[in-house]
Order: sequence, then structure tokens, then C-alpha cells
Amino acid sequence: MILDGGLGLELQRRGFGYTTRLWSGEALLRDPQLVGAIHRAYLDAGADIIETATYQLSQATLCELGYEAAASDEVFARAVRIARDAIAAYRATGVRTAHAQLVAGSLGPYGATVGDGSEYTGTQHLDRAALYGFHADRTRALVAAAPDFILFETIPTRTEALIVANVARDLGLEGVWISLACADGTSTYGGDRVDDTVAELDAFDCISVVGVNCTPPAAVAPLVRAIRSVTAKAIVACPNLGQQWQTEAVGLAGGASPAELLSNVPAWLELGVEHIGGCCGVGPETIAELSHAARR
Ligand SMILES: [Zn+2]
Repeated sequence: MILDGGLGLELQRRGFGYTTRLWSGEALLRDPQLVGAIHRAYLDAGADIIETATYQLSQATLCELGYEAAASDEVFARAVRIARDAIAAYRATGVRTAHAQLVAGSLGPYGATVGDGSEYTGTQHLDRAALYGFHADRTRALVAAAPDFILFETIPTRTEALIVANVARDLGLEGVWISLACADGTSTYGGDRVDDTVAELDAFDCISVVGVNCTPPAAVAPLVRAIRSVTAKAIVACPNLGQQWQTEAVGLAGGASPAELLSNVPAWLELGVEHIGGCCGVGPETIAELSHAARR
């Protein structure tokens, strides 16, 4: 299936400015219609799976902004509702697709809520117990909003991947996706070997799909081979355009062209990648071309 592309940079491209550590989640509060419009653009582009704008959302950040528990749960619920509404409006146009579009409940690593680039370095600010609590709280809130499945993405370390896998198992979830953020063809941003990490994730029955995202296109094929060597689970790949994190400019810069990403699609399909989408820098135009290339 085809996933959508990036949300954060697409919000910025459409003029949305961040003022809080909710990052893209802030749009759920200040401009939910814009979030819906971006979901719709990805559906129009051929995406089968829409990711909620909850990647950076957490109770801790919402609490800092004055949200009580019930109000913060409502923000998670709103994110799923906006995605469902976008799908309903899209289907109401009479479009016929091979299968119904799905809502992925997106949850990023702890570092993504800090906004200092640590999601790309794997820097740990919390001990294991605190990291587990952070992920358990937000996963529980998002699950209550009933997306079709939970997608933990841009996970930079083996430690955090195993923590979210344990959260998923302890909450009794099924069909969970875990996607690692990788710097090159062998390792996560945090420097852990991808084959070793996925070999451990393979033991979790609650996980149905593993893969990589926010990873340079050139690194995807070797990573997929490494993943395939240690698991029979389905594989997802959502590369970025090969950008590097710029701490001072607070964003990603440089990298490959959409054409370079698209030229890799046939090879990824050949390697058995079941689900392909995009991450930072990949917008609706590129997803439209990707969708076309993958279905050919
Ligand atoms: Zn990304």
C-alpha cells in the first residue's frame, strides 16, 4: 500500500508557523482545516494510508500548555477524526479504489517532542522507565481514538524500538508498525545495527510491519535486505529526500531529488517492500508519482 508523505514540512510550505513544542501537532489546535487539507492532498495523490498529525503530540507538552488530561485526550481524538473525515470526503467524490483507505496513528520518538534534532541522533534525555511511561501514555490516548493501527516511526535507537514494542505488547495491541530512522545502509541514527534491532522486534507478535523512514533513499535497499534477513514480517519504507538535520536552522536541508527517490521504487518492490510512502521533503506531488510508479 502507499502511505502519505511528510506533514511538518508540508504545513510549513503552506504557511503554517510553529510556536510551541507540539510542532506539527500544533496545527490540530490552531488550524485543523489545514491538516485536513493536507490529508486530502495525499488521498488525491493516491495514498492508501493517512498518518494522523500526532507524531510529536504528548501529554507532557499538552500539560505544559495548560491542557488537563481529558482535554489532551481530546486532541488525540481530534487528530483521528480529521483523518477519518478527510477519507470520508474523499470517498464521497465517488472514487473507486482497490481497498478502503486507512488511518495510521502516528507516534514519533521522544526526541521529536524535544525539537533539538535528537530524533536524528538518538540522544536519550530520559531513562528507560520514563521513556516507557512517555510512550505508554500517548499510545493509550491514541489507541482510545481508534485509528486503524499504530505506527511508531522515526525511532532512532534499539532501546527506544524495544520500549515501544513492549508498550504495544503490554497494551494488548495488534497489527502495530515500527519504523526505524536510519543514517546509512546498516545502522539507525543512534548507531544501532538495523538487523540486530529488527531481529529482536521479530519476537513481538503484536508487530506486523517493520521498516525504515526518514532515511536517505540510497540507504533503503541495503536496509531492506538487512531487515529481510532477520524477519518475515511485512516491510515499510518511507524515505526522506536524504536531508541532514540542521540544528541551527531547526530543519532538514540538502539531499536527493524526488526523481532520485522515484528511480529506486522498482528495486524496492523487487526486494519485497509491501508499503511505500515518504517522509520529510516528500510532498503530495511526489506521492502521486510514487503511487503511479508502484502500481504500474
Ligand atoms: Zn522525516
